[in-house]
Amino acid sequence: MQMILEQTVKACSPWCTTGKVASYIPELGKADTMALGAAIADVKGNIYTAGDYDQLFTMQSISKVVTLSLALMELGEEIVFSKVGMEAVADPFNSIMRLEMDKPHKPHNPFINSGAIVLASILPYSDNDAKMDAILDMTRQLTGNTSINVNKEVYMSEKFTGERNRALAYFLSSTQGIDGDVEEILDVYFRHCSMEVSAKDLAVMGATIAEDGRNPYTEEEVLSPEICRIVRALMVTCGTYDGSGEFAVRIGMPCKSGVGGGIMASLPGMMGIGVFGPALDYRGNSVAGARILEMLAEENGLRIL
Ligand code: GLU
Repeated sequence: MQMILEQTVKACSPWCTTGKVASYIPELGKADTMALGAAIADVKGNIYTAGDYDQLFTMQSISKVVTLSLALMELGEEIVFSKVGMEAVADPFNSIMRLEMDKPHKPHNPFINSGAIVLASILPYSDNDAKMDAILDMTRQLTGNTSINVNKEVYMSEKFTGERNRALAYFLSSTQGIDGDVEEILDVYFRHCSMEVSAKDLAVMGATIAEDGRNPYTEEEVLSPEICRIVRALMVTCGTYDGSGEFAVRIGMPCKSGVGGGIMASLPGMMGIGVFGPALDYRGNSVAGARILEMLAEENGLRIL
């Protein structure tokens, strides 16, 4: 497996030149277009790594897996899905159009920005710091990495330039989709998107979700099997933005991507895979990262769909 992973990362590296790093969050624009790494964490406790597997980057949308899991754990399925839907969309992750046109104005799913902003608003903790502590704690348990933290530069960069997210949040506030101070809610959202991980952390997180909530490395029970089932289902249908259909067909794994260049895949009963390559396609998915997953699926039978 170690050799296969190293060869796959090497073979996919030329794809980095076909993508662009996200620059709408200025701090993300500083990433190295050619960086590429991957890690596999199997459910027996083996870890395989290749390329820039230990380079840190921000989770961005992958953090929405954490907030969804936490919301389901604290509030239950019924309340969570009364506030956000569970349907895929063919629009970009930060689109405003559908939210305004649909009635009621309920975000289609928890993995688009509007849905994640709603989740940030309903997490039942006393204040922003308590919310963020719970999110960080859950991320550390899922990854087994106690040193995970927020990258302050990326967080401030998002906060000062997040006009699209502000537009979504103020619209949601005007239609009672969120309650409370909009800037405070956005602050939690920007902070959790800016949590910093490596491809190896994502691999372990994917393995924990694959193992129905038991982290195979720390042996901690982090989530219930039912929450993991819901998370994996939404990763298939909505995890890679408006590219989710193509990911399901070509890669055949439950995946969640982020504009920081990470993709986390979770193969039930088998393994988690983390990839990192900040050069993105026009939908916001890592180009070379997706190729790594596709090659692993195609040539090594790791497809589950
Ligand atoms: N923080 C990013 C944003 O709000 C997350 C986008 C993403 O990774 O999809 O635009």
